[in-house]
Amino acid sequence: MSTKILNFKKTDYKLNDFSTADIGDDHLFTGLETPMKLDAFKLSDDEKKQRIAILFEEIMDVMGLDLTDDSLSGTPHRVAKMYIDEIFSGLNPANKPKVALFDNKYQYNQMLVEKNITFYSNCEHHFVPIIGKAHVAYISSGKVIGLSKLNRIVQYYAKRPQVQERLTNQIANELKAILETEDIAVIIDAKHLCVSSRGIKDDTSATVTSYYGGAFKNQDKITELHNYINN
Ligand SMILES: [Zn+2]
Repeated sequence: MSTKILNFKKTDYKLNDFSTADIGDDHLFTGLETPMKLDAFKLSDDEKKQRIAILFEEIMDVMGLDLTDDSLSGTPHRVAKMYIDEIFSGLNPANKPKVALFDNKYQYNQMLVEKNITFYSNCEHHFVPIIGKAHVAYISSGKVIGLSKLNRIVQYYAKRPQVQERLTNQIANELKAILETEDIAVIIDAKHLCVSSRGIKDDTSATVTSYYGGAFKNQDKITELHNYINN
């Protein structure tokens, strides 16, 4: 097994006067795009799983776990498969949902709200779950989208290491591009296990983020949207 991975440099560089430690524990948001390397897809999914399994086995080994135990021996492969095929599958643009648009035949020109979309994501600072609900809304510019696609778009961006602000904006941007309108709203209400199960250990707080574009910048529209969500 390679020991190269143990030689990583601990750098504490500054970003806007915050150290990398501050950014992690305070969950600061540094950009809209998920930070990816240029060669992110040089390895195939199978190659990534093999590599992750080896590295995760090393983490378990360093922690002193006995990998010959029947219960633990398959864990590195299970984790690798889960990372690539499930919980981080949204890193790969190949997994982006294919979206078909339909003409707005019913001439419905009020807001459409898809509320209480349950999602599971993972905090990119601690790699522990973020569990929440997303509410998305749009006003058709002439095209409509299948309702399940709204759900799938939320799931796609959730299946990445995330910060909640970025997740909110990535969903909003995708909907703006697909539906060719600025009239998009996204509200996310989520619990971060890195806050509830470790660190400050606050089990009752939740984090709410929102994006209001176009017509949703109007206070009446925001009130209408909140009425739908809260009923
Ligand atoms: Zn965290």
